[in-house]
Amino acid sequence: MGAGISGLVCAYALRKAGIDAQIVEASDRPGGVIRSERRDGFLLELGPQSFAGTAPLRQLCRELGIEGELLEAPRRAPRFVLVGGALREVPLSPLAFFASSLFGFGTKWNILRDVFGVSHPPEQDESIAAFVRRKFSAELLEKLVGPFVSGIYAGDPEQLSLRGAFPQLHEAEKSAGSIVRGMIRSAEKNDAPRERPSLLTFREGNETLIRALAANLGDALRCNAEVIAIQRRTKSSVAGYEVCLSAAGRDETLEVDHLIVATPTNAAAELLRQVGAGFENALQGISYAPVAVVSLRYRKNAVGRVLDGFGFLVPRSAGLEILGSVWNSSLFPGRAPEGHVLLTSFVGGTTNPQAVTRSKEELSSLVHREIAPLLDIKEAPVFSSVNVYQRAIPQYTLGHTNRLAALSALGAKYPGLWLTGNYLCGPAVGACLERALAVTRDIVKGAT
Ligand SMILES: Cc1cc2nc3c(=O)[nH]c(=O)nc-3n(C[C@H](O)[C@H](O)[C@H](O)COP(=O)(O)OP(=O)(O)OC[C@H]3O[C@@H](n4cnc5c(N)ncnc54)[C@H](O)[C@@H]3O)c2cc1C
Repeated sequence: MGAGISGLVCAYALRKAGIDAQIVEASDRPGGVIRSERRDGFLLELGPQSFAGTAPLRQLCRELGIEGELLEAPRRAPRFVLVGGALREVPLSPLAFFASSLFGFGTKWNILRDVFGVSHPPEQDESIAAFVRRKFSAELLEKLVGPFVSGIYAGDPEQLSLRGAFPQLHEAEKSAGSIVRGMIRSAEKNDAPRERPSLLTFREGNETLIRALAANLGDALRCNAEVIAIQRRTKSSVAGYEVCLSAAGRDETLEVDHLIVATPTNAAAELLRQVGAGFENALQGISYAPVAVVSLRYRKNAVGRVLDGFGFLVPRSAGLEILGSVWNSSLFPGRAPEGHVLLTSFVGGTTNPQAVTRSKEELSSLVHREIAPLLDIKEAPVFSSVNVYQRAIPQYTLGHTNRLAALSALGAKYPGLWLTGNYLCGPAVGACLERALAVTRDIVKGAT
């Protein structure tokens, strides 16, 4: 249940393995937060703007026959961060980092100290902020890690757990006594590609992936069908679940051997409360950051700065409300008609949740007011689109790994019940896909 990317991939992979899977979705369309819209020649992404081209994601695109639709962002497109009122390029390679004047000697020395020294993570859960200050510097936290964490989680590094949000960093220090050595060792062990995966979208937007999955599923996908109650099967001695749906004003019950709950935590908590004690507590402990996605389009001639990169991130100390901005029309072709640019900014997050309570007009004026001086924009936008998510990105806060362990222990008591979604193994599209594939592998293994 739940036809975001997590649920769709589960249904697709199960059917591919010959298992009769059905998926129900409460809203009138599949895709969850992944949504693309064409308006007046512009291609708007209302949720994620792009996704990392990981191997499983590319493989899925190949299987669905949409690999030819993929667009890759220029690998070397610079990313900027707002420091001292100016957009400064983020160094992306070790050489560029040590050559950059963005960071002082202390930060660079502490990186070298990590490479050649030995350190150990504390026993207790550590916040990302505490980790960066302990290992590197407050400067690195302020200028780079904080904005980066805003970019992924719309979260607060003082609240987010390092081992929850970036387990590979925690493991690297634990296993090798050094982040850099540990990361190199783990990449060698996993035979990981040397280059980071590039950022992708599709010619007709991210929703292409959703449309292809939905087309593949055909009648196995039902929209406008909300799960309103779940209980363990009572009519048979075989483990399973009775799933009560409300569809077209009528209630109906499905009996299933396996149930994958691929909804956000609030819906999962509400429904699983009826199945067993403990689920609600663990699931409700996972909060989400609210985010407003504001896309503005301008005449190209009205923008003084050359938009030669990915976009920029904003440290909280800069005193702005935007978390960052993506320069869509610089990254991918076909996002804006000739002579125009499309820029998408994000407002809100856990450090400024009130921001999203403003009206759409206020949000679009706020973003224009804040980005205009940075990009030397001389005119008002010719169009704006504002999409507000009260619960956008799950927060992997301190204690997250304990909450997941509690969920996993509970899950083991309920055969045939599976949880998947963006609160488990990372919020990125690629992470949702990998978690969904792992769940389906376990189901298929159990069925054969
Ligand atoms: C603004 C924003 C920007 C992002 N940017 C990026 C990015 O640039 N790159 C990236 O990789 N990731 C990004 N992400 C994260 C990524 O898009 C999401 O984590 C991912 O798409 C979540 O997919 P999901 O299937 O787990 O959940 P969802 O997309 O939330 O889907 C859950 C589905 O369950 C349905 N549902 C809920 N209750 C019920 C019920 N009772 N019965 C039936 N159905 C129900 C919902 O209607 C929904 O369709 C972004 C997310 C947001 C919100």
